[in-house]
Amino acid sequence: MRIFDPHIHMTSRTTDDYETMFEVGVRALVEPAFWLGQPRTTVGSFTDYFDALIGWERFRAAQFGIRHHCTIALNPKEANDPRCAVVLDVLPRYLAKDGVVAVGEVGYDSMTPAEDDAFARQMELAIEHDLPVLVHTPHRDKLAGTHRTLAVVEESGIAPERVVVDHLNEMTVELVKESGCWMGFSIYPDTKMDELRMVTILQEYGTDQVLVNSAADWGRSDPLKTYRTGQQMLEAGFTEDEVDKVLWRNPVDFYGQSGRLALDELPGFASSADTFAGNSVLRGGRQ
Ligand SMILES: [Zn+2]
Repeated sequence: MRIFDPHIHMTSRTTDDYETMFEVGVRALVEPAFWLGQPRTTVGSFTDYFDALIGWERFRAAQFGIRHHCTIALNPKEANDPRCAVVLDVLPRYLAKDGVVAVGEVGYDSMTPAEDDAFARQMELAIEHDLPVLVHTPHRDKLAGTHRTLAVVEESGIAPERVVVDHLNEMTVELVKESGCWMGFSIYPDTKMDELRMVTILQEYGTDQVLVNSAADWGRSDPLKTYRTGQQMLEAGFTEDEVDKVLWRNPVDFYGQSGRLALDELPGFASSADTFAGNSVLRGGRQ
């Protein structure tokens, strides 16, 4: 099984996680910019973090045989703090960098006017920089938040197939499917969405334009949830090709729209995923 985790916050994970992710087949990932737990108070705190995403974390992942990409944005939570909102002015500098494959996470947390402004402005930036967009949907009031999210996406004029609306569940999937946007699902150990419910959604709505991720943030989470969903799909009768589509080809298709995926940089990667089965060479050089 080859896996591309399209949304995982490796900054909050240990090297043990990189090792076990490699063991189950994770070969590429996207790490979206988000909050740091402790609130930021200055723009410098953002730029150091963005630099870590495009530099340090990318290097750390490569040591474990995993290709790292990221998305850059002012997250919805911190859009409400005027000390943070000024970071919008430095985003263009980062959106031009290699390894930045989308604008994100943008969207709503508490649905405030400040979040409206930051969201709309970053949709414009995505269009200007010709990048796809990763949109976070609020955990409270999710249905209303998703309606409002789709209205902002439509108003921006971006092509819906360049947008993934993330953290969906049974209540919001239909709405997003109708919009033409990609559907993202974060699989968690005990809240929001689990792998059994994910398989039921796949049976009902099919595998087109679906992205499954483990999110793996500061809270209780499991960086192997993509793998566990793949296993659950096989048990439910999905074919290996269907699992490959959801866990590999879909994320490649979505983020490939940036023109910046660099999967061929891993040796033997472009030719066959099987080259990697049991491959210990990449990890051999690690200290
Ligand atoms: Zn996230």
